[in-house]
Amino acid sequence: MKTFVYIDHFKGEVQPASWEALGLAKTFGEAFALVFGAGAEGVAQSALEYGADEVLFADDASLSDYRAELYAATLSALAASHNPNLILFPTTSRAKELAAMAAVDLNSGAMTDLISLEADGASFVGARPIYEGKLIEKITCAASPAIATLRGRAFPKPDRQEGKSGAITKVAAAGEAKSNVEGYATAENVVNLGDAGVIVSGGRGVSNNPALTPPADLDEKQAEIWRAQQGFALVTELAQTLDGAVGASRAAVDGGYISYAHQVGQTGKVVTPDLYIACGISGAIQHLVGMRNAKVIVAINKDADAPIFKAAKYGVVGDLFQILPPLTAAFKKKLGK
Ligand SMILES: Cc1cc2nc3c(=O)[nH]c(=O)nc-3n(C[C@H](O)[C@H](O)[C@H](O)COP(=O)(O)OP(=O)(O)OC[C@H]3O[C@@H](n4cnc5c(N)ncnc54)[C@H](O)[C@@H]3O)c2cc1C
Repeated sequence: MKTFVYIDHFKGEVQPASWEALGLAKTFGEAFALVFGAGAEGVAQSALEYGADEVLFADDASLSDYRAELYAATLSALAASHNPNLILFPTTSRAKELAAMAAVDLNSGAMTDLISLEADGASFVGARPIYEGKLIEKITCAASPAIATLRGRAFPKPDRQEGKSGAITKVAAAGEAKSNVEGYATAENVVNLGDAGVIVSGGRGVSNNPALTPPADLDEKQAEIWRAQQGFALVTELAQTLDGAVGASRAAVDGGYISYAHQVGQTGKVVTPDLYIACGISGAIQHLVGMRNAKVIVAINKDADAPIFKAAKYGVVGDLFQILPPLTAAFKKKLGK
């Protein structure tokens, strides 16, 4: 079995789910990594170290910036000449676009955002969560090459073998540019919850510490936000100690405690970290759909009957303002920080 794996990178910075796709490809047989972009030798070498049998490297100035028409034409031309059985992508917005375009070019079907994928004879069978995770959709693709994008952190990342050598084959770019990238602006307040291995989230409960006395000149709402900021400082300190990211419930976002970029749930982000610590979050269904696939869920809540405890593997009933400082101190000690 021959699998192509598209390595999604921006100026050499690889989306980690690309390596997870490479790991899955190796379980099926031969894995070819596709690396596009001028001067991306470092990415090509990393692909070998993460297990690619061969790298097809389109080292061409026309591919310096991602442009769908050129990338899709290059990818489809390589597929036509190498005849892979399967083409895998990480689930990123760019790779989903490419997967769809390749499926049209190659007269195949695209299965997107998969959390599992198996070979079944000459077909592939995938599964993906739909309707906020309430249903798991099973999909088969009998066309060749089958095309699939894989949800980040749903598949194991292979171990890296530093310095591993192998074939890096230069291939030609194809297609005709129809668009031009004029430049990039750095977005502010980027919160990368999708790649985080650990997420510590705060809910409305982070504002609930009557023992804190806000400055006298604040009105009631400002005092609530001030209290919440003290609570989120504790949440953030724990997240930083664990090299994790800070999440939030919608109540915390709607309350003005933290920006929307942090929101987890039905109308926020869907996350799958190894560890999710929910602090002062009740566990409404709209929050649970965003985090219930975390490998380990820990809940800290004053109310022993809060629904979050049903989803949690470990629960601590108590005041987060009392629990977080010694918990963070214990992790710092354990981790030597
Ligand atoms: C269409 C729709 C979409 C939605 N999308 C989302 C979404 O994407 N994400 C989301 O989160 N919600 C979403 N919601 C809102 C959701 O229904 C809940 O209202 C929200 O999740 C509640 O947030 P919370 O748990 O922080 O607040 P609450 O439900 O008010 O819970 C606060 C919790 O904190 C605990 N607590 C209080 N003080 C302390 C303390 N000192 N220490 C420890 N615990 C304490 C309380 O016991 C309580 O359980 C959506 C709702 C709708 C209708």
